[in-house]
Amino acid sequence: MSDIRLEGVTKRYGTFAAADSVDLSVTQGEFVTILGPSGSGKTTLLSLIAGLNRPTSGRISIGGRDVTEATAQERNIGLVFQSYALFPHMTVLQNVLFPLGVRRIGGAEAGRLARDALKLVRLDGFEGRRPSQLSGGQQQRVALARAVVFKPDILLLDEPLGALDRKLREELQVELKQLQRSLGVTTILVTHDQEEALSLSDRIMVLDKGRVQQVAAPTEAYLKPANRFVAEFLGIANFVGLPDGRQGVIRPERVRLMAAGQGLPARVVEAIYLGQMVRYHLALEGNQSVVAAVPFLGAAHAPGERVSVSWESADVWPVT
Ligand code: ADP
Ligand code: MG
Repeated sequence: MSDIRLEGVTKRYGTFAAADSVDLSVTQGEFVTILGPSGSGKTTLLSLIAGLNRPTSGRISIGGRDVTEATAQERNIGLVFQSYALFPHMTVLQNVLFPLGVRRIGGAEAGRLARDALKLVRLDGFEGRRPSQLSGGQQQRVALARAVVFKPDILLLDEPLGALDRKLREELQVELKQLQRSLGVTTILVTHDQEEALSLSDRIMVLDKGRVQQVAAPTEAYLKPANRFVAEFLGIANFVGLPDGRQGVIRPERVRLMAAGQGLPARVVEAIYLGQMVRYHLALEGNQSVVAAVPFLGAAHAPGERVSVSWESADVWPVT
């Protein structure tokens, strides 16, 4: 069993709380992403779970066992960081064999496990290369193989794709998801990239200033954000006044754009072509503005054009 539980986990540096009373339960085999801006405490939390650091207060348990005071070695965790941290003087195979050696697994058994792990990340045939002879994406796949070769209970990934360019990052996201699913390993990923979090995770935990803002499935966090911070961090949010005086958020894809006269009068301020979609920045009456995202079907409205908009009240989510 490798479920993870954090209860009231706080990490202080002096009086500053890098992690503040964090509660989180991750179930066996689940893929949870910790999402937050730079400095929000993501790496701090991951290092506490990994055992590289101790909480000031609170408890951490893995598989029902309290590991708050356990060392990193006692936790059987695979780790991948943004910087590849491969041993530069070792070959790919030696890098992947390394954690097995630490665990006193050698000989044919170690060779078999290492080759299986390299096959899993599609790097069979690269055994003899050194890290400097690999691309960034390949280096990160070696780091992944090294993290899973000893069959860890838990996989912790700290911005593992952060140094890669967009296309490669998207390819590796798909591979990472497949790898995680095929191994069934309980995984926590740290990222500041909301698209990455939304596309990979079973659930996301949104963090701001060391505090949990929301823990929810991606669609729920996106469409039913717990507060204004989550609404804005997970994408573009239109804020509209509600009859009861509260604010509501509506996502750009939920705004309907029509010919003038069919809804609320609007004027196109900016039309941004995004490939599959066009994003319109629209001015409404009364100094209000709204962003609409509509599929691009060969023609777009031009700036200055009069149009109209509407939306379903059910698509407006009240926030505090
Ligand atoms: P993230 O990974 O989300 O960017 P971190 O967990 O690295 O954030 O850091 C969270 C906050 O804690 C930051 O303000 C950072 O400066 C502070 N911090 C992290 N490690 C230390 C440390 N060893 N000593 C003092 N402050 C630290
Ligand atoms: Mg970090």
